[in-house]
Amino acid sequence: MNENTRSRFGYLALVALWLAVLGVACATDRAPDVVLQGQLTGSDNHSYREVPFQVPTGVNRITVQFESTGRAEHTTIDLGLEDPTGFHGQQGLRGWTGGSKQLFTVGAVDATPSFAPGPIQPGRWALLLGIPNIRPASKAEYTARIWFGHPGDPAWLPAVLNPPLRKEMAWYRGDLHMHGAHSDGSCPTQSGDGRAPCPLIFTVEEAARRGLDFIALSDHNTVSQANDIRELQPYFDHLLLIPAREVTTFQGHANLFGTTEPLDFRLGSKSVPDWNALLTQATALHGVFSINHPIRPNDETCMGCGWTPAKPVDMHLVQAIEAVNGIDAMSPQHTGIPFWEAQLNQGFHLTGIGGSDNHNAKVALPFPGGSMAIGLPTTVVHASELSMKAILDAIRAGHVFIDVQGTRDRAIDVVATVGDHSAEMGDALSAPAGSTVRITLHTEALDQAHAQIIVDGKPLQTKDALVIGGAKQTLSFDWPSDGGRHWLRANVRGADGSLLIVGNPIYFN
Ligand SMILES: [Zn+2]
Ligand SMILES: [Zn+2]
Repeated sequence: MNENTRSRFGYLALVALWLAVLGVACATDRAPDVVLQGQLTGSDNHSYREVPFQVPTGVNRITVQFESTGRAEHTTIDLGLEDPTGFHGQQGLRGWTGGSKQLFTVGAVDATPSFAPGPIQPGRWALLLGIPNIRPASKAEYTARIWFGHPGDPAWLPAVLNPPLRKEMAWYRGDLHMHGAHSDGSCPTQSGDGRAPCPLIFTVEEAARRGLDFIALSDHNTVSQANDIRELQPYFDHLLLIPAREVTTFQGHANLFGTTEPLDFRLGSKSVPDWNALLTQATALHGVFSINHPIRPNDETCMGCGWTPAKPVDMHLVQAIEAVNGIDAMSPQHTGIPFWEAQLNQGFHLTGIGGSDNHNAKVALPFPGGSMAIGLPTTVVHASELSMKAILDAIRAGHVFIDVQGTRDRAIDVVATVGDHSAEMGDALSAPAGSTVRITLHTEALDQAHAQIIVDGKPLQTKDALVIGGAKQTLSFDWPSDGGRHWLRANVRGADGSLLIVGNPIYFN
């Protein structure tokens, strides 16, 4: 072990002090695996220094945060990273930032711009410091904190790379399904004479223009878009970019959110004989798994699209159903809602979500006419903050409604109360036989629409018609409990009957 490298345990107290003094890292971040410290003096001017560290086996990501003193004296330290192949010319140099980045990551599929992604070999790595300027009498202290990532880590780790974009509990609006150049998304070329794989920047800019808070980039069976996300996310500090993939098989499609780890999608092969084997692999990756557009043909018009597993699937391993796909927003008779409700009726707690399935970021027509435009439909999530982990946790918990036409302001909140206990969409509530459940709907921007309550898949006849008569409206009614197991959710329909809002269930008993 190099003299600059000390065990992480010896540094815990020092790290705590840095966190308190500098406030640079997220409070939930774990301590770095390696801390490198050293001093530069005037004699280091115009020189390079290698600061080595050991990378153990089983590491698939290296994240470095660098700090140094002496900026007031114009001391400048450039940064690079060498891998174990050695630094001879360019070989072994995984990247060079100059003085442009003090925080960077290098992983198997993605890296901060300036660095090359790829396998992380165990062995001797080194930070390469270049010193273009330090005055003869100056001294500078530097500290590099290094975190190692491991197979199976969710995409929101390490926390230092993924600070929340907003820190308050709120309803956040997003689109959970889209394709770009990394799969079959295409758009007109610059001249307009042809089509080309559509650069991811257009997707992200369109989502930002629509005012979305988050998008999931779900290319077919690939996570190569994660490398573009590394470039785009720091600039887009109002729009959370969630790496995802559309697991695309001959027996249906499903989105897996929040992981960039490899996943074998070849159903019928030795390693993944069926969906249950694939789902068991996916569960170990901590992401959220959602069955896409389940009610679709699986034939020559749409190969593999419909959910057609060869063997029964253990739905305990699934967290969500794409209840509304972008095409459904135009022809709502084909939504995934009946499939979703059939699962709910079997006792599974599954979150209904929406996704545009956009394949052309340049299609941005307002509804109607913008079938599959980004944000159409919009999934609205009640999350503790705008971060990947918080958004995915809230989807898992069912704190979600779908804004079918992708507006910026339509909203619904459903609360069920029994005595002192209450529940929001996605929650479970105990309602003993003979008790009265108070159901309260808060709506926004749904004037003249009407709410429809659905219990166990059937419309509930309420005494009062649930007509919404204002920009902000609260409607309530009592529902007598029979003590049985039920789920209850709300839809909101426009005056013409069109589906505007799809709420998630509250589960009873
Ligand atoms: Zn699909
Ligand atoms: Zn798709």
